[in-house]
Amino acid sequence: MRLVLMGPPGVGKGTQAVRLSRRFSVPHISTGDIFREGLAKNIFSDLSVKEHVYSGRLVPDDITVGIIRNRLMDSDCAKGFILDGFPRNLIQAKALEEILEDLRVCLDDVLYINAEFDILVKRISGRRICQKCGAIYHMLTNPPPQDCICPQCGGNIYQRIDDREDTVRKRLKVYEKLTKPVIDYYRDLGILKTVDGGVEADKTLDAIISII
Ligand code: ADP
Ligand code: ZN
Repeated sequence: MRLVLMGPPGVGKGTQAVRLSRRFSVPHISTGDIFREGLAKNIFSDLSVKEHVYSGRLVPDDITVGIIRNRLMDSDCAKGFILDGFPRNLIQAKALEEILEDLRVCLDDVLYINAEFDILVKRISGRRICQKCGAIYHMLTNPPPQDCICPQCGGNIYQRIDDREDTVRKRLKVYEKLTKPVIDYYRDLGILKTVDGGVEADKTLDAIISII
């Protein structure tokens, strides 16, 4: 199972990736999570990572591609992986192809989860995340407990700094300009499969399972 999940910010890629990763016992690789964890632990010597993530722009490709190359070479990726948040522009898509060629494997599917922009903005601005286990909550649909302590792991539940409204708009613009062409690229290759992310997460998961 070698899968890429594509779609706009807030569409539920992360939620579906976690579920698919459990179901198929393959690692979930999220570049966003890798950057946030790395920033929290202060492991990036390059200051531009922080600047880019906090302002909603893409981290430079050489950094991102290097991280993904290393991660895909780890032994737990041998039987498959779910990529979430990578590739996000055409340069990264070409780089992924090279990495997979080096590993002598191919992608099985590219899943495009889509939804209307106003749904996305609403979802992102209400989103809260557990700092420790990554569980995702929502102020309207799945509110966290009042003490903001995660019932699953005891971690702190917080709002991502880039989930503030101005940064969300910036991220949606970046998506339109840089990531949409990657979706067209996979569509032209004939490996793109589209599902609706504007409905309940369980329904989206069912749709995904039935087409992959
Ligand atoms: P979302 O998909 O909800 O916008 P992510 O958690 O995937 O959020 O990413 C958060 C931020 O991390 C991005 O806005 C960007 O700064 C950085 N990032 C994530 N993936 C990539 C990538 N493939 N290339 C460059 N930057 C990335
Ligand atoms: Zn938790």
